Amino acid sequence: MKTVIPVDDSDVLKATRRFLRSLMEAGVVEALYVPLETEGGAVLPALVTDPAMLERANPLAPVMPINGARAVSALTGKHTPGTLGAVLRPCEIRALVELVKLQQANLEGLTLIGIDCAGTFEVRDFTARRKAGNLDWAGYLSGLKGGMATVDGLPLRAACQMCVTPVAENCAIHLELLGSDLASGIPLTVADELAARLGLSETPRGEGAAALLVVRDSGPGIAEADRARALEPFTQLDPSRGTKGNVGLGLAIVQAIAKAHGGRLELATGASGGLEARIFLHSV
Ligand code: SF4
Repeated sequence: MKTVIPVDDSDVLKATRRFLRSLMEAGVVEALYVPLETEGGAVLPALVTDPAMLERANPLAPVMPINGARAVSALTGKHTPGTLGAVLRPCEIRALVELVKLQQANLEGLTLIGIDCAGTFEVRDFTARRKAGNLDWAGYLSGLKGGMATVDGLPLRAACQMCVTPVAENCAIHLELLGSDLASGIPLTVADELAARLGLSETPRGEGAAALLVVRDSGPGIAEADRARALEPFTQLDPSRGTKGNVGLGLAIVQAIAKAHGGRLELATGASGGLEARIFLHSV
């Protein structure tokens, strides 16, 4: 189900903390693996069992001291103790899925909360900026709307500069941060069963709801590894189309238009195996 987390006074972090707290208070999770702000200026992941601790949660901070997949693997092993939630970035979820395939992690009883990611910075750079009080937090959050991080003078980590899949997948709860106007609410996709437990309902049109346009075809689809390239201008994945007046601009133009309206384009595989293009837009 798609809904929107309300944001008051443009405070996206406060709205995120409130939502995470609601997961614990509704009994969806008994413990939550999530990054916490420390008094020393760092942001480090921790296992939280007291909802009050979530006042220091900051999963939006553009820093990733460790890959959370290893930590969740250690927490779950073959059996998940109680009901565990984990707030993870897309690359952490992908790594966790690989560990599950190797039987080094267990998804049973685990609620994955995926957050889109506009990139992270080296720990030393992030911590120094935060201690000095000159981290351009507003700039970073507005960069999320444009689909990329912008913090003056700080380069992203090398891995993040090459990341082509910053949108979270394979999670029960998805905070759709990229391409969204977060000042008016955080778009959220949540499994129906969890939505019922949290008392969430589909956000009606005209109340900041995200509109989703889906176009599917019955062709061979586009492999996940090729999707980022398919969105680049003048890219033709099928050489046989080059003789028919196609120049490889269609998807790039759709993406540019979606971004210009504060939305985004995602490519996926449709139920029939063909290409599914999803255009997320937000009401104004
Ligand atoms: S940009 Fe990609 S690689 Fe970097 S932290 Fe985010 S999901 Fe991971």
